[in-house]
Amino acid sequence: MSQKIAIIGSGPSGLTAGIYTSRANLDTTIFLGIQPGGQLTTTTEIENFPGFVNGIQGPELMENMQKQAERFGAKTKFETVRDFKYGVSGSKPIFTLTHDSGETTYDAVIIASGASARYLNLPGEEKYIGRGYHSCATCDGFFYKNKEIIVIGAGDSAMEEANFLTKFASKVYIVHRSENFRASKIMIERAKTNPKIEWLLNKSIVSLNGETKIGSVDLKDSLTKEVTNFPIDGVFVAIGHIPNTDFVKGKLSMNEAGYLLPKNRTMSEIEGIFIAGDVEDTIYRQAITAAGDGCRAAMDCEKWLESIE
Ligand code: NAP
Repeated sequence: MSQKIAIIGSGPSGLTAGIYTSRANLDTTIFLGIQPGGQLTTTTEIENFPGFVNGIQGPELMENMQKQAERFGAKTKFETVRDFKYGVSGSKPIFTLTHDSGETTYDAVIIASGASARYLNLPGEEKYIGRGYHSCATCDGFFYKNKEIIVIGAGDSAMEEANFLTKFASKVYIVHRSENFRASKIMIERAKTNPKIEWLLNKSIVSLNGETKIGSVDLKDSLTKEVTNFPIDGVFVAIGHIPNTDFVKGKLSMNEAGYLLPKNRTMSEIEGIFIAGDVEDTIYRQAITAAGDGCRAAMDCEKWLESIE
């Protein structure tokens, strides 16, 4: 083993990158972050990741990916990277990462720190995540065959998710806190003409209720201030994502929402820093696309390291 690589993040993109770099005999350290395994550890069954005929539980898939990377020698640290510095050692770039237990230098870095779904921030909401409270219709919609569900939000994601969910649900309520929509006209029109969708405007969820999973919500009307109990089987939040890019703010280019912008294939404008997965993906956000991104970043990184040797 020679050159040292740090991978920041342990979702499908980070762990796939780790499988590739460690298998290529590069000295790989994966910083797992505060949620090892990433977003998929908050979902239950994953039925659309190829290779698992009968599906696989999200946490199990991520545990397997981590073990697979470790089998090839990847080291994992249950730590978060807070900052990085960029310098030169001889004629080569060198990266110093500040993480929970100190500072370490690396020859290359793959940023796969992902994005976190925005939730409503209601008291006690964590216990319902994956139990009636979801952030990904493609992942979890299937479990709502002939059930009634709420989609929160009025952007393109909410319209798209609501339409998608009508494939399964008997009824989808779009709940939105005002009458102003961020979604494009065509997406709103599509949702408006869908007979399974009903609109509940000027309403916000103020409480999620249920013993082990959501059975009802309390809705507050923003005009009358009235609170009513509303029985429902599930709630899908589609109010945006937050990319985990605070630690590189001002150092790498990002769009106005904070998503990173790769410059040359998966490489950032700083040579030696590669970008993979949801931290740059505003469109697909699937486990399989993130894993593919991790593979691409690892291969680009390997080639680049060879080129500077
Ligand atoms: P978005 O456009 O920012 O919309 C977020 C929605 O969530 C807004 O209706 C917002 O309401 C609501 N919201 C935010 N915080 C909330 C809270 N705490 N409680 C209740 N409601 C809240 O986000 P997005 O829909 O995820 O879209 C992100 C980007 O991806 C957009 O550029 C979009 O066009 C794009 N996208 C495109 C497609 C497509 O073309 N097929 C599909 C999905 C996404 P307020 O307006 O009241 O703040």
